[in-house]
Amino acid sequence: MKVLIIEDHQELARNIHDFLAREGYICELSATLEEAREKLSLFQYDCILLDIGLPDGNGMNLLQLIRAERQQSNVLIISARNGVDDKVIGLEKGADDYLTKPFHLAELHARIRAIYRRKNLGGANIVEFNEISLNTDTFEVRVGNSPLDTTRKEFDLLLYFIVNKNRVLSRQSIAAHLWGDYTDNLANFDFVYQHVKNLRRKISNAGGTDYISTVYGLGYKFNSHKHEPE
Ligand code: CA
Repeated sequence: MKVLIIEDHQELARNIHDFLAREGYICELSATLEEAREKLSLFQYDCILLDIGLPDGNGMNLLQLIRAERQQSNVLIISARNGVDDKVIGLEKGADDYLTKPFHLAELHARIRAIYRRKNLGGANIVEFNEISLNTDTFEVRVGNSPLDTTRKEFDLLLYFIVNKNRVLSRQSIAAHLWGDYTDNLANFDFVYQHVKNLRRKISNAGGTDYISTVYGLGYKFNSHKHEPE
């Protein structure tokens, strides 16, 4: 999961970043509204942590922008203002949750996961597709009854495919999802190819169907109907 942390308090931003990175999240930081606007115009995020009091303005403006552009990102407001008004306004403007500072990082993490489960996974922690199942709490993958030995990147890749099944995912978007922004500065996406190849091989070796197909010149697609061999 990719998270944008919009927070001008450097120490807090760094603490959140390090905590979530240890949990395997890809995290990006913005300390101002302007920086955040730029990142949001260039990149996609699964979750946005939004501080309200920023040096160049009110975070609520950004929330309006995110929702006006119909971005799918989950938004969690993290704010020192604990006024009921801010909370109500934030939720009315489309925030998914609101956490008042100071908070424990473990609680922040639990809230991020809860929003993701509710909005992206239909409320469950087990994501199933035919013979494949993923446990988003333990990061275990099963094909039928056999556990599949996957790396965390492969787990995240498979989840990304299943959540976006039947949609073409570009190599750029996969790279950014798994490794963070600015991976498009790299000359090629061989590492995406390698990870997709390894994942397909592992699923096939475990007796699962190979649902992933290459879309020539564009990227990859997880097909909910079994595709014919190429
Ligand atoms: Ca602030």
